[in-house]
Amino acid sequence: MIKLGSHVSMAKPDYLLGSVKEALSYNANALMVYTGAPQNSFRAPVEELKIAEATSLWRENGYRMDDVIIHAPYIINIANTVNPDTFSMGKEVLRNELIRSRAIGAKYLVLHPGSSLKDTLENGINKVVEALNEVLEEGFNVTVCLETMAGKGSEIGYRFEHLAEIIRRVNYPLGVCFDTCHTWDSGYDLNDFDKVLKEFDEVIGLEKLHVLHINDSKNELGARKDRHANIGEGYIGFETLSKVVHHPLLKSKTKILETPYIDGLPPYKDEIERLRNSSI
Ligand code: FE
Ligand code: FE
Ligand code: ZN
Repeated sequence: MIKLGSHVSMAKPDYLLGSVKEALSYNANALMVYTGAPQNSFRAPVEELKIAEATSLWRENGYRMDDVIIHAPYIINIANTVNPDTFSMGKEVLRNELIRSRAIGAKYLVLHPGSSLKDTLENGINKVVEALNEVLEEGFNVTVCLETMAGKGSEIGYRFEHLAEIIRRVNYPLGVCFDTCHTWDSGYDLNDFDKVLKEFDEVIGLEKLHVLHINDSKNELGARKDRHANIGEGYIGFETLSKVVHHPLLKSKTKILETPYIDGLPPYKDEIERLRNSSI
């Protein structure tokens, strides 16, 4: 069975238990959460997250904690070369997220590499490498998965080569999260998905790929915009996304929807069902 779920919320009073219940209500066997608001670093203490109850319920349903994915808040910018405060705050928040991910029992923490702002991409990459080498030295037993980015503004990670370089220069094992909307927006034509996957394998290595974000895109190939569309409602289209989800080389990988709500309601139960049943 493919491992397919969505982003779910984590909020008081039930926190992770609420996240698991939400995922189960979508018939998902995987899920992704931000451990607090993605835009800030305020976090409830781990003792309040109802981790034990959530874990029991998830396992009772036959699912694995390895398919509970954590996404780091996007205020982290460890590619910032000009503001030392942003850089050290980014490291501190990342460290804190790794501790929380470990407490939850998650295996993968998804991280945006960051933006080099007015500085060069190369200098930005140097900072990312420096930060990861520093933070990961402590050892958390959680794999940081760098996300493929759309290339909006000065975002790092819109080419597989960027991620490959960071992985090569960091002294600790890293993984990758492949976002279909982002790779499409950065110019990888997913209509020839076998070719893209081959390129990924040559540049990074398929064994480094642990998580996929399954999103359609509101923009054309190469637009570098990063606006997610509902499955089948964007420029990538249902057929291509179904191929990604059911690709034989990606059987073991965890797939997460991050598509927008429709009229204030989550589309995930329906999108999961349609994608699951679309296997050829
Ligand atoms: Fe992301
Ligand atoms: Fe994503
Ligand atoms: Zn995105």
